Amino acid sequence: MAETLDGTELTCRQIIDFVQAYLDGELPPREQTIFELHLTICPDCVNYLQSYQATQALSKLTGEDEPTESPIPVDLIQAILAARKKT
Ligand SMILES: [Zn+2]
Repeated sequence: MAETLDGTELTCRQIIDFVQAYLDGELPPREQTIFELHLTICPDCVNYLQSYQATQALSKLTGEDEPTESPIPVDLIQAILAARKKT
């Protein structure tokens, strides 16, 4: 049985299931290869991955699950600015 990796072994639904593990670097090498191959043939999944990444980046920035309008507390910004003025 010849083992071919052409990205079509995974369905888009499976890709979505794998996104979190992929971004965490937890996908096994074989699955990661198939995942990336799928991305080269499926613009829809690329779009999904990018929007997922953006959402996740925002969540990390705010420390919350939901993005907020003001990711950085005003108090923190003022404290940083104040600290810079001192030096
Ligand atoms: Zn896809």
